[in-house]
Order: sequence, then structure tokens, then C-alpha cells
Amino acid sequence: MTETTSWSPYTDEEDAARATVRSFFDRELEPNAEKFVGNLDYDREFWRKAGKAGILGGAIPQAYGGPGASDLMTVIIAQELGRSVGGTVVGSSLSADAITHILMTAGSEEQKRRWAPGILAGEVLQCLTLTEATAGSDATAIQTTAVREAGTYLINGSKVFVSNGNKAHLVYVVAKTDPSLGGRGMSMLIVEATTPGISRRPMATMGCPAYDLAEFHFDDVRVDATSLLVGEGRAMEILLSLFALDRMEVAARALGEAELGFRLALNYVKQRRAFGRELVDFQSIQFKLAEMKTEVEVGRAFLCEGIRKHRSGSFGLAEGAMLKLWISEMSSRVIDSALQMFGGSGYMEEMPISRLYKANRLHRIYAGTSELQKVAIARQL
Ligand SMILES: Cc1cc2nc3c(=O)[nH]c(=O)nc-3n(C[C@H](O)[C@H](O)[C@H](O)COP(=O)(O)OP(=O)(O)OC[C@H]3O[C@@H](n4cnc5c(N)ncnc54)[C@H](O)[C@@H]3O)c2cc1C
Repeated sequence: MTETTSWSPYTDEEDAARATVRSFFDRELEPNAEKFVGNLDYDREFWRKAGKAGILGGAIPQAYGGPGASDLMTVIIAQELGRSVGGTVVGSSLSADAITHILMTAGSEEQKRRWAPGILAGEVLQCLTLTEATAGSDATAIQTTAVREAGTYLINGSKVFVSNGNKAHLVYVVAKTDPSLGGRGMSMLIVEATTPGISRRPMATMGCPAYDLAEFHFDDVRVDATSLLVGEGRAMEILLSLFALDRMEVAARALGEAELGFRLALNYVKQRRAFGRELVDFQSIQFKLAEMKTEVEVGRAFLCEGIRKHRSGSFGLAEGAMLKLWISEMSSRVIDSALQMFGGSGYMEEMPISRLYKANRLHRIYAGTSELQKVAIARQL
């Protein structure tokens, strides 16, 4: 059984970029994954190297110094990260470049000119703080406030589960500027992480030991009113414009992980022996591999179709939800089956398959749980 290599929904330029991303991960991530654990400086250096390799800021147009490449760069990065064993250590990592899309679509001219060069160079890292301890799926229940006072906003509140939160330089804060309006009273501001009144601390995760997840506290954080993106009450609009691509990105990551899980299992059963033969010689193992391979191929076709729809402008919230829902659930099935083939070794902490199992579990939870994806799909029926 061989890997399918002919499949690609990407243009020649995107495929060339994908080859660059692949060789970057093979060179900088795969041999060094353990160095990321507990070492944010190493992580920051990795971003700088990614900047030098030219794979950041795909969403930044040439007018702001960017490649004006493809907004699918973040999807490409996510899939290649998913295919990397090192991806089971570092968590979301370069995928956070997707936040640049917010800056480019909702940022002011001044904000774009100011931050784009640093983002492209991997010097300016970003994070998005929406979720709170009492408001996740129900995002409109957030309690963080941004109160306008004479040309400034005063931000107060707390956030949890912030990806890339401890190393980020720019913090996108979702807060209520008018709590009486619910979701329509939610706004988004760009705040520098060094602003007085901001504190953050790491949160330990089940998978990906170098995930870099943070909890944030905003205590009387005063920022200039120009920090506001687009206008008051428009955070949900900004977030909704990001969601479809964000869901595709998570699906691509999960698909890459399913491919990796399949590959790890196939290699293992070809060399592990039991009852006088290799595991791969048992028909029950062959049938399971056949099912896994089929599921991965269906996932690839589904992502391919999503990309086609994205190019034609018909990839909306429900399409993104279906893609994320099915591929993230499929990848969990495939990786669970892969781990089973490793027997007891699969349960060992140092084994890539066990790390993959834990890392992959996240995709059914963040960027909207599987249940919330179903809510989004059902809403459009
Ligand atoms: C590693 C990690 C990284 C993350 N990164 C970020 C980030 O960078 N920025 C950020 O803002 N957030 C981030 N999150 C937060 C993430 O998006 C939320 O955890 C997620 O949306 C779920 O919210 P919750 O944890 O509050 O769960 P809850 O909303 O409390 O849900 C609990 C359970 O109830 C179910 N449920 C809730 N509502 C319904 C409903 N209407 N119908 C049926 N079932 C329902 C859910 O599906 C879930 O199973 C991250 C989370 C993790 C774990």
C-alpha cells in the first residue's frame, strides 16, 4: 500500500509554497521538537526562522510588504504541521498566522503598516482572546468589558485557553463595549501584550507539551481608542468572517494527523511480529488498514472540495462546519485504530502515536466543538 502523491487541490504556486513549508518543518521542527518544551525563546526563534523562510503572512498583500500569496497558506501550513511528528509537541504554532487575516480585513491603514513587517519576519506574534472561564461555545456570554473614556478604552476581565498566548506580542481582545446589546455589543481591540495591567500565565495541556496555552487578566488596561477594530459592536462580524477558513484550517491539520497516524501504523505492522509472522500478514489488520486508508482518502477529497468551493466563493459557515466536524471525527477514528495496532507500546508516553492521539483530541473541541459545528450546520438547513 503506498501513499497517494498525485492528489493536490492547490495551484502550482501554492504547491511550491507547500514544498517550502514541508522542507522547513523537516529541517527545523522534526529534529528539534523536544527543544520547544518549556522554552518559549526557542519557539520565538522558530517563528523568526519561518519568517526568513518566507512562509508567514500569506494573507498580507504586496502593498504592505507581503507576498500577496494565497489565503490558503494557513491551511497548507496546518496540514503539513499535522503530518509532522513534531506537530504533536508544539501545538497550534504557525497556524496562529491565520489571525493576520483579521488585521488585514479589519485593521486600520496605520495598524496594517505598523504590524505587517514584524508579522512577516516572525518578530510579531499574535493571539486571539475570546473564550472566558464561563463563556466558550456561548461566546456572547463573555463578561470582559471595554469602556470608552475620553479617547481611550478601559479593559477589564479575564480570558482562558489562549493559543500562543504566552509568547504573543499582539493580543486581539474581544470585549463588550455595550453589555446591554449581547452579541451586538461585542467589539475587538488590538492591544500590545506589554500594556500595563495585562498579566498572563501558562496553562498545562493534555497533549502537545509545548502547546503555549495561556490565561489572561486585564486589570484596568487603558488603550488608545484607535485600538478598536472597524467599529464598536462588530466583533462577531469579524469573527464570523474568519470562522470558515479557520474551520478549514483545523480540518487540514486533523487530516494531516490522520495521514501521519496511518503511516506510523503501517510502518509498525510491517516490522512487528506475532505468532510467527508480521502483523501486516493478518487479514484483520489488513482490513482495518484498508478502512483507515479509505477514510483518509475521503477526507482528502472532502478538503479538496472545500478548497474548490472556497475559490468559487461558496465556502460558508456551514461548509466549514461540515468539513471540520467530519474530518476531525474521522481523524480520531483513524488514530485510535492506529494506536491499537501498536499494542502496549502505543500507550507509552514517548511514542509518537500516543502523542498524536492526545494532540488530535483537541480538534473536536477548539474552534467550536463538534456539537457546535452541528448547530451551525442545522441552522442552514
Ligand atoms: C488547546 C486549546 C486552545 C484554544 N485556543 C483558543 C484561542 O486561541 N482563543 C480562544 O478564544 N479560545 C481558544 N480555545 C477555547 C475553545 O474554543 C473552547 O474551549 C471551545 O469553544 C469550547 O468552549 P468551552 O471550553 O467553554 O466548553 P463549553 O462551551 O462549556 O461546552 C461544554 C460541552 O457542552 C457542549 N455544548 C455547549 N453548548 C451546546 C449546545 N448548544 N448544544 C449541544 N452541546 C453544547 C459542548 O459541545 C461541549 O461538549 C482553546 C481551547 C483549547 C482546549
